[in-house]
Amino acid sequence: MFKLADNHLEAAQKIAATNRKKKSCGDCYDRGWIGLTEQNLLVLCTRCVDMEKAMADWKEYVSGHEDLKEHFAELFEEKESAEDSAQESEKHARQELKQTKTVVKPNFAPGVKRTGHSKKI
Ligand SMILES: [Zn+2]
Repeated sequence: MFKLADNHLEAAQKIAATNRKKKSCGDCYDRGWIGLTEQNLLVLCTRCVDMEKAMADWKEYVSGHEDLKEHFAELFEEKESAEDSAQESEKHARQELKQTKTVVKPNFAPGVKRTGHSKKI
């Protein structure tokens, strides 16, 4: 089973900490994350971490590490086809007239708990 290497985990912890929006948080004790999954992935604190920014940073980090890219390929795939807002997918559909692929909603984000309210882009 995939397990995130410790050095990558440290990077993820840094990302979590730098994307916090609140000063103090009783949920994560100001770390920005509240636990680890069995894959050694961070469970980010949804109360004080800016999820979108954190994921963007994480994506960037992953894209710089070949050993992570494979496991997190979904991060990059969902970019074109999936948006939380239906309007956005409509826009995409119009832009990609020739492509008629179905828009699949992401239900999996490694290391992150999806919350109900993602911001619309
Ligand atoms: Zn927190």
